[in-house]
Amino acid sequence: MTLVADLVVVGASEVLTMAGPSTPLGTTGAGGAEARLGRIPKGAVAAHSGRIVWVGPERELGDSVVLGPDAARIDARGGAVLPGLVDCHTHLVFAGDRSTEFARKMAGESYQSIAASGGGIMSSVRATRAATEEALLALASERALRLRSHGVTTVECKSGYGLELEAELRCLRVGRRLGEIGAHPEREGTPPAYGGIVRTTTTFLGAHVVPAEHRSDRARYVDEICERMIPAVASEGLADACDVYLDEGAFDHDEARRILSTARHAGLALRLHAGQFRDLGGGELAAELGALSADHLEALTDTGLAAMSRAGVVGVLLPGAWRTLRQTPPDASRFRAAGLAMAIATDCNPGTSPTTDPWLCAALAVRDAGLTLEEALLGVTIEAARAAGLPDRGALRPGALADLAVFPHADARALPYWLGDVHASHVVLGGRPISGA
Ligand SMILES: [Zn+2]
Repeated sequence: MTLVADLVVVGASEVLTMAGPSTPLGTTGAGGAEARLGRIPKGAVAAHSGRIVWVGPERELGDSVVLGPDAARIDARGGAVLPGLVDCHTHLVFAGDRSTEFARKMAGESYQSIAASGGGIMSSVRATRAATEEALLALASERALRLRSHGVTTVECKSGYGLELEAELRCLRVGRRLGEIGAHPEREGTPPAYGGIVRTTTTFLGAHVVPAEHRSDRARYVDEICERMIPAVASEGLADACDVYLDEGAFDHDEARRILSTARHAGLALRLHAGQFRDLGGGELAAELGALSADHLEALTDTGLAAMSRAGVVGVLLPGAWRTLRQTPPDASRFRAAGLAMAIATDCNPGTSPTTDPWLCAALAVRDAGLTLEEALLGVTIEAARAAGLPDRGALRPGALADLAVFPHADARALPYWLGDVHASHVVLGGRPISGA
């Protein structure tokens, strides 16, 4: 049967489908990861109506696919073709800047001490509460454009700098508007506040930190999250998931359990910031509640990692944060031993990970945590899509979204080899070439 395509990508040195055969848990080392890349030398990709219809060696393209009348043809010019990257953990929607407190942090002051003096997350909360929805959308759009220049086509956007009902809803609305593909076509010369730059998935993180005005009465804030915020977020359809920061200085195990259970009843998927500073049982809780992912994990014990692995929870590594906080990074060999899937995300946020460069994060995951180059490539694509709960992307296979990126490197292993600054020569979103070409 011949397939019809409205977009083809040809001229590639290699196509990495990320849809190669999996290996059993516990054998996800370099060899298993290599097979999972699904590498097709001199491969080609064809899409129709925004979905992938064919992937294979370019020499077989002509026998398999017929181009429609207005089909787009992208020449990869000897570069590597990957699925569009998924950035599965960002705090993209915020106002303000925290470069001044960075100096204190680098001079040795702790994250907790800066937070106690009114800095940290609360300084971003003050700036975000004061910003309009349009202003926040303009800021988030500019960050999304930078992410996309690196090949990112889907971004998870958390709230968590509002910490009161209206401000949290505003941040989630910005995340939704940012991802309205096709609603606001990009035009030259328009203001930067528009949607459709990337796809988004939104996460309610009202439990980011207890806001200053509730410090003496934190139980009331947890009530507020469970009784007002989650019902409002769910009824307005503004979030796909709920997240809790379970750690010292944030929320404890009982609070996290109550918030996540409430969110699950409201129909939201779950994720967790866990074990960044101390293991408070976040791995086990994520496993018990069926969370999509638990993220950070620097301090997580082997018991927590094993529980996550058994339950299919993805471990998300956030190298920007461990670098800024000068922490001991997690050790990939422990994740491999537990059979735990590893994703990598930017954690883009104004305090601990001010970056929109997923390749810098992948490069640091290799250097600091010991991931192989192949694991890093899987970590920013298919594993990140799993962590985000989005099975229709992160891999190039028939039926998947036609979101892909072409990079000017013949060997895709060069992407996490470079210390960031890797840019896509072409990005395709929903079958539409949106840059380069
Ligand atoms: Zn985070």
